[in-house]
Amino acid sequence: MNTATMSSIAQALRRAGQRLGDAAGARLDAEVLLAHVLRASRTHLHAWPEKPLSDSQREHFERLLERRAGGEPVAYLTGEREFWSLALEVGPDTLIPRPDTETLVQQALAVLPADAPLRVADLGTGSGAIALALAHERPGWWLLAVDRQPACARIARRNAARLGIANAVFFVADWCRAFAAASLDAIVANPPYVANGDPHLERGDVRFEPSTALVAGNDGLDAIRALTADAARDLRPGGRLCLEHAPEQTDRINKLLKKKGFSDIHTATDLAGGERCTLARSAP
Ligand code: GLN
Repeated sequence: MNTATMSSIAQALRRAGQRLGDAAGARLDAEVLLAHVLRASRTHLHAWPEKPLSDSQREHFERLLERRAGGEPVAYLTGEREFWSLALEVGPDTLIPRPDTETLVQQALAVLPADAPLRVADLGTGSGAIALALAHERPGWWLLAVDRQPACARIARRNAARLGIANAVFFVADWCRAFAAASLDAIVANPPYVANGDPHLERGDVRFEPSTALVAGNDGLDAIRALTADAARDLRPGGRLCLEHAPEQTDRINKLLKKKGFSDIHTATDLAGGERCTLARSAP
């Protein structure tokens, strides 16, 4: 492509329309990518449509358009995604934080005492989204976040540093392996919960996300089974477990939790009205 046709912001966005289409979502993607290239806000694009692009900016934008046209998630192209109003670094090693998970954070904040010095674990933290949102909201809590992937623990630590969040630590471990029995006040986690071979995995952003963060066995419950067993041991008596899951898993998760001695079980819905997270108390 002759990038000379992208001599201004307005022309670059027209070019993006040809490449990605004119649907509202595609237009937004193009603006986010161009703002990233120009290190400016989207407002800047609307305020200065005539502003010229340098050669390297044009080439950079064209490369990103190509990759976006090939399906790569915008968050991986910019290396950033906002969660709970916190700008987080993300990359192909981490899941891209979703608004659904903000429901989980909201629920955890609603049931856990705000002023007590709680020890709260985030298992499979990825970019650190849950731990950082909770640590940011509750400076008196101590967030212990683990991920099996060293690359995730590194990204999550960088996110904590750039947000100036000091009450969260990140380390490499498998679910609760790093914790002592009855040592946690709460566990808040978004484990992988998609079933092997789910057609959803063939569409959109998820094709590019790490399957270790998404897929959990033939019924999607392998991680949740492991995690609930660990949680029953490592939560203090009456501690809280807050889990994200798929809407169709609610009944099976309920049974699983009851079998492990959890009580006070309730499920909350996400913005789309799907049953997205379940909270429970460990045996007293
Ligand atoms: N909500 C994600 C999806 O459906 C799955 C996230 C997860 O498995 N934890 O793409």
